[in-house]
Amino acid sequence: MSQAMQRLRAEIAAAGPDYWLRDARVPAALLTTGPAAEGDLVRCDLRISHGKVATIAPLGTAPAGPSLDGGQLWPGPVDGHTHMDKGQIWGRTANPTGDFFGALNACAADRNAWTDADIEARFEFSLRAAYAHGTVAIRTHLESFAPRDPASWRVFRRLRDRWAGRITLQASSIAPLDRFQGEDGEILANTVAESGGVLGMVSRLSGGVHDALPPEFQPMLDHFFSLAEARGLALDLHIDESGETGAKALIEIARTALRRGFKAPIQVGHCCSLAIQPEEFARETIRLCAEAGISVIVLPMCNMYLQDRVAGRTPRWRGVTLVHEMRAAGMRVSVASDNTRDPFYAYGDMDMVEVYREATRILHLDHPVGDWPRAFSANPAAALGLPDHGMIREGATADLLLFRARGWTEFLSRPHADRIVLRAGAVLDVEPPDFRELDAVIGGPG
Ligand SMILES: [Zn+2]
Repeated sequence: MSQAMQRLRAEIAAAGPDYWLRDARVPAALLTTGPAAEGDLVRCDLRISHGKVATIAPLGTAPAGPSLDGGQLWPGPVDGHTHMDKGQIWGRTANPTGDFFGALNACAADRNAWTDADIEARFEFSLRAAYAHGTVAIRTHLESFAPRDPASWRVFRRLRDRWAGRITLQASSIAPLDRFQGEDGEILANTVAESGGVLGMVSRLSGGVHDALPPEFQPMLDHFFSLAEARGLALDLHIDESGETGAKALIEIARTALRRGFKAPIQVGHCCSLAIQPEEFARETIRLCAEAGISVIVLPMCNMYLQDRVAGRTPRWRGVTLVHEMRAAGMRVSVASDNTRDPFYAYGDMDMVEVYREATRILHLDHPVGDWPRAFSANPAAALGLPDHGMIREGATADLLLFRARGWTEFLSRPHADRIVLRAGAVLDVEPPDFRELDAVIGGPG
């Protein structure tokens, strides 16, 4: 850690429950009130009192207190799409081809090793990493292929309760759409409802280049919606995660939500194929999604890793969906980690600062930065129904990240391993866990 950050950390730790943080730059899009912005950043002083942001004042207001020396200050991020029950398995089950089908096959094989203890050890490792990096809330998808033995859900409920107050944890099911038919669908939807979860499925169905989706798709989708409606559940869907132009589930989901008057929140993830479909079709899809109030969450690191991967051939596209067009149409856009050190993505450390930095580079969320910082915190918080998270505002809990970086290229050029995480205004003294701790679980380094 730099000496300057060490000094700031010590000053805050010694400051007591009521102090001023002087000379911070806050992304303007993450402030609800406060002084006028200079470009995308607002330079200000913040008074922290008994765990809350008490005052956001113009630079120079504070009489004394620890100074960021112009460094950036962000709210704790919300990671709205992860896979914590299958995370961290790479050391025991790699993806030999690095592509989507390699990932599906490897994960299916690895599930044979899943016990409650195995899932819990890996899941908690990821939580500890996220916590150390400053994340305040996470939604994880849970493998739900065996509705009669919902091991991931049991572990989730335990960890959600154990981590309450540190990380707000939500869960969504993930299983192929056809798994929700019949009695297993009812059992699974009941498990989701009893666990306070969100109903999620995955559809990668494709009708080929010009064809419609297979005829069984729409009845299955309506049945899936009806399972959620009967239990008042929100939806979180893995949609069209492929490079096939015939993968057109997204528009049918929007039409179905509108036709049924579906009221609960819907979040969709991936939507990769939209980027290679005809402009007019993409525009109509986005228009209907916006009309249906659907939020989109983008997983740029995982998309870049899996999409357009062919052995011996250089990838030609980035795999990500049309976030600029979606934002322009009024859709709420978030970024998230997705998989972490498993066959769907070999890397990652549950660090939303890395996700935002990579998202900026992959998706061009810059020049100007504008309101893209909301994709890091405020947008996923709103999509997940967590209105108290994601913005810097007076009265909010002082869960903050402090950086040495001042401007955007300073912020986006380094990983900021020396960031200071504040939880309720106090310095969090936690490091990411050592990968060696997983040796006993996955058998060695990944
Ligand atoms: Zn995912």
